[in-house]
Amino acid sequence: MSAGLNLAQLQAVRYTEGPCLVLAGAGSGKTRVITHKIAHLIEKGLQPRRIAAITFTNKAAAEMRERAAGLIGRAAKDVLVCTFHALGVRMVREDGHVLGLKPNFSILDADDVAGILKECAGGTTDLATARQWQWGISAWKNQGWDARRALAMAGDDHERSLALIMQRYEERLAAYQSVDFDDLIGLPMRLLKGHAEVREKWQRLLGHVLVDEYQDTNATQYELLKFLVGERARLTAVGDDDQSIYGWRGATLDNLKKLPIDYPQLKVIKLEQNYRSTSAILRAANHVIGPNPKLYPKTLFSELGEGEPVRVQDCDNEEHEAERAVARIQSLQAGANPPPAWKDFAILYRANHQAKPFEKALRKANIPYKVSGGTSFFDRAEIRDLCAWFRLWANSDDDPAFLRAVATPRRGIGHTTLGRLGEFAAQNKLSMFGSLFNAMLAALMPRKALDGLLEFGRQINDLEYRARHTLGAEDARRFLTDWLADIGYEQYLYDSEDSDKVAAARWSNVLEFCDWMAQRAGGQVEDAAGTTTQTEVKSLLEVAQNIALLSTISEREKDQDMVILSTLHASKGLEWPHVQLVGVTEGMLPFKLDDDEGRQQKVADDVAARLQEERRLMYVGITRAQRTLVVSWTKKRKKGREMVACRPSRFIAEMKLDAATMREDPREKLRQLRAEFARKAQAGVPSA
Ligand code: ATP
Ligand code: MG
Repeated sequence: MSAGLNLAQLQAVRYTEGPCLVLAGAGSGKTRVITHKIAHLIEKGLQPRRIAAITFTNKAAAEMRERAAGLIGRAAKDVLVCTFHALGVRMVREDGHVLGLKPNFSILDADDVAGILKECAGGTTDLATARQWQWGISAWKNQGWDARRALAMAGDDHERSLALIMQRYEERLAAYQSVDFDDLIGLPMRLLKGHAEVREKWQRLLGHVLVDEYQDTNATQYELLKFLVGERARLTAVGDDDQSIYGWRGATLDNLKKLPIDYPQLKVIKLEQNYRSTSAILRAANHVIGPNPKLYPKTLFSELGEGEPVRVQDCDNEEHEAERAVARIQSLQAGANPPPAWKDFAILYRANHQAKPFEKALRKANIPYKVSGGTSFFDRAEIRDLCAWFRLWANSDDDPAFLRAVATPRRGIGHTTLGRLGEFAAQNKLSMFGSLFNAMLAALMPRKALDGLLEFGRQINDLEYRARHTLGAEDARRFLTDWLADIGYEQYLYDSEDSDKVAAARWSNVLEFCDWMAQRAGGQVEDAAGTTTQTEVKSLLEVAQNIALLSTISEREKDQDMVILSTLHASKGLEWPHVQLVGVTEGMLPFKLDDDEGRQQKVADDVAARLQEERRLMYVGITRAQRTLVVSWTKKRKKGREMVACRPSRFIAEMKLDAATMREDPREKLRQLRAEFARKAQAGVPSA
């Protein structure tokens, strides 16, 4: 148990009687404390199902489950390792009925929410405005406000009208039996706060709650935690104030400051040794974060040696930057023995759209890569089409899903018909599906239109019934294949795409997705290596119920040997031997600080706070690297259709690198030549 832990870590692991905060810099083994503490608690006799470990992403949860399994074996699978949102889903499914929610409520994703908001404004709004409202409403929800509170607190006309929209939005969600992502935190909080029996149940169940990346929790999550752990406060939180990068989404460092006040018995443990990065990398990180105000004093040292100097690359444009990044990966591969794997490399950037030139260059060089934290497989239109159907089986009151499913493929039900149905539903406070079988609907539309709708309604009912009784992977696969043939989805793809090649690619996504869905229904499941395992059997309906959360799950991609392309935000908590931070220019990182996007953003205070968050983002990026780090920037950058001139980010100078070593690695040229030679030699071998 004590293997691979230093004294301070061991102290944090062994202290289980009360609240404990581990506050420490990047790579100091905070996450490791959590996994070892799970093992320790189980060894001490706490049942695995009474432990909850909360992580920031599904991916982090999957990784933690795996690491815990490495320590304690099978018992790890009963530990509740999940995100705040997944915990919320479970709580609301179990106890949401006391708030009037049916257990099969739907979870809306960001697009659904924007659609409903547009609807709330009578459909006259554009998407951009709807998105802005979404942000505003979400910010209110994250600080624990409902529409009534927002209305009472509104300071000007703008806020008042947004609060009114929020009120309509809340009514719709109730009518549709749906919740949005913020509700997955807000509703559990209301459950625990307002219902003693529910609160006691959860407090009794959870013998210990552990939270990773604590610095990125928001005010509602703080409250939720407080109610979850109750008076006994068996809580372990680990975090780093210098890595708080979700302020823009409502995360607040107040949560760190409040802990010692709300829990006077709090034990604070600091870790000082970094086990991840070389001294050269750590020094650059410490210089960058230096100017930020300190919440707690911290020192961080590494015993991994000085290592390679951190390098800076000045590039002409993004294509040039991408070519050089690929050349570096190739030369590191050719120059080391044994060569690093593809998955030892990460290219990190500020915004998703920056990935493209790197994707292209990697493809050209035949290097496998994966874009993580960006447009995932699950965001593709065809996958979302299918998900709309699944959501509708799971909850027929899900109007956004109804609208999408009814139109894919189009079944001759026109906009006018849907418009009339929508009006009728709104007037009668019903969902669209709920209105279908209402006798009064017949008066509002021609017979043929009504027949089309009824046919669709019957189809959904039938599918729901059958999905409920379809158990296990094999049946699920057969069901899905039949259903796709039945609705003619393949044909629909070919009809709606100009290019057959594109249609074929989309169809293959559909098949891949169905296969993945089917596997989740359990039973005898065969993996890629051909080994069969027996897993818990679920109904296809059950699998469909959690569909809205899918977009963030990337389980199916784990363990593949690929270069990682990721946003800085999505890289939090992870580490790679070789990292390149790209596009590090003023305006990208730090992001433009003085734009006029928002009304308040011009206020000087706000600019200073945003610069601090940008600095933390750079710090997160640098500290992902274990052995080598390159920071690159481009003299020109594409902005829309134009090319704009760029300057290197102020953070590059602030890393205080040694001018003699930062530009060029003299061995780079040699490695490149060697790599080229190896490629040519390989190409020259006649194929058998
Ligand atoms: P971050 O702030 O980025 O989330 P962290 O503090 O959570 O980092 P970990 O990811 O837990 O740090 O650990 C960083 C690396 O150091 C991991 O590879 C981990 O296995 C290793 N490590 C942590 N503690 C020790 C230790 N006591 N001995 C050896 N290796 C360790
Ligand atoms: Mg961590």
